[in-house]
Amino acid sequence: MTNAWETIIGLEIHAQLSTESKIFCGCSTRFGDEPNSNTCPVCLGLPGALPVLNRRVIELGARAALSLGLKINKKSIFARKNYFYPDLPKGYQISQYDQPFSANGQLEIMTAERDEAGHPMEWRPKEITITRLHLEEDAGKNVHEGLPDIDRYSYIDLNRAGTPLAEIVTEPDFRSSWEAYDYVNHVRRALQWVGASDADMEKGNLRCEANVSVRRIGDEKLGTKVELKNLNSVRFMQRGIEFEVNRQIGVLESGGRLQQETRLWDERAGETRVMRSKEEAHDYRYFPEPDLPPLIVSDELVERVRSAMPELPEARRRRFMEQYELSFSDASQLTSELSLADYYEQAAEASGNPRSAANWMRSELSRELENAGITAASSPVSAADLGALVRLIDEEKISGKQGKDVLVEMFKTGKSAAAIIEEQGLVQLSDSGEIDSIIDQVLAASSQQLESYRAGKESLFGFFVGQVMKVSKGKANPKVVNERLKAKLNG
Ligand SMILES: [Zn+2]
Repeated sequence: MTNAWETIIGLEIHAQLSTESKIFCGCSTRFGDEPNSNTCPVCLGLPGALPVLNRRVIELGARAALSLGLKINKKSIFARKNYFYPDLPKGYQISQYDQPFSANGQLEIMTAERDEAGHPMEWRPKEITITRLHLEEDAGKNVHEGLPDIDRYSYIDLNRAGTPLAEIVTEPDFRSSWEAYDYVNHVRRALQWVGASDADMEKGNLRCEANVSVRRIGDEKLGTKVELKNLNSVRFMQRGIEFEVNRQIGVLESGGRLQQETRLWDERAGETRVMRSKEEAHDYRYFPEPDLPPLIVSDELVERVRSAMPELPEARRRRFMEQYELSFSDASQLTSELSLADYYEQAAEASGNPRSAANWMRSELSRELENAGITAASSPVSAADLGALVRLIDEEKISGKQGKDVLVEMFKTGKSAAAIIEEQGLVQLSDSGEIDSIIDQVLAASSQQLESYRAGKESLFGFFVGQVMKVSKGKANPKVVNERLKAKLNG
């Protein structure tokens, strides 16, 4: 029956901008410090304290907007969003409302539905409308565990109060949980790529909320929407949306009605739970923040930021496919992170064989990096050294199989491929005279197999190759061995 239903999802992302100090005061944004140590009269909301906008926020906000293909408004207005909550000392949050930092952008993402095993099926482009990107301050944190008398008290840590955020809101453009998943990963990579945000969901510096509704296919009117929170990883979000879609269809198909409400995803229980219903929904009574002037962003500033940004990930993926003739899958993986893409380009150049360099990175190198729990940026094997290894294999100095062992050794010792080959005497044997004499030796010792082969049992060819490789201790060049064996056996 699910085929008769259409899923409608809109997303809100809160990304913490990677500044060293807060948005309206000089307090540090460092994570994990002593509670309430990074506070001052401004972020504590003490009477008479006045906010001053951190210039770095404008620059990182601009990078975030440009990385998502958004235009930056020349003028935006900070506004007070009024609500009461213990972690919000001023009783309002400074945000932006009807004149945001950036608005109305089209973003093309690549997306694919997944099969039962979770593998992408067919990648296709999809346009997403980003309604707005605005700047605002974060609230503090209520602490509900790990402190004395926690059953009687709530504790408040205001270190996070005043941390700068970019809130990125889309239109309800997503039609499946996987589209939402691919979009959030796209945004996360873009923000990390340009250095706007660490965008680490585990640390809470990228948070995500989904508005989810369903309607019968063909209906014009949108269904009742549920706001989904507590989505602490991209995968949790995808699972939460999937559960919520099925729950809503179940309610409607059994004749029930949906409530407009906020629900929390409980990853352990694998279900969503009501957090608050519409009756408790807030009226924020926005009005312009009187203590801050309008934010004016000049064309010069936008151009300066744009020209300092690296080539964006999607453009780089397309270029990798054209310039280095990589597959979509190779190019996507190698542009999943800026440091990986930089590493690849250096290795490709040093190797003289970009496709082979991509293969080595995706298979052998990425396994070593994963085992060591590090990224390409801190790889003990430099891009130039990996390229040199690929070149030595192409030049048939060593075999591909020897190359794998050499890479493991390079990773362990940080030495170059040439040094390890020299040390271990790993040079590949390509001299046809020497290979001929090994072949003669092998054939003399295998007269029975030779007789069977000559009698028509051609499958024994592999046996002879194996014997020659064994006698040569794996050093013989397999290509030459094949050629010479054919010549001897059939000649
Ligand atoms: Zn402060």
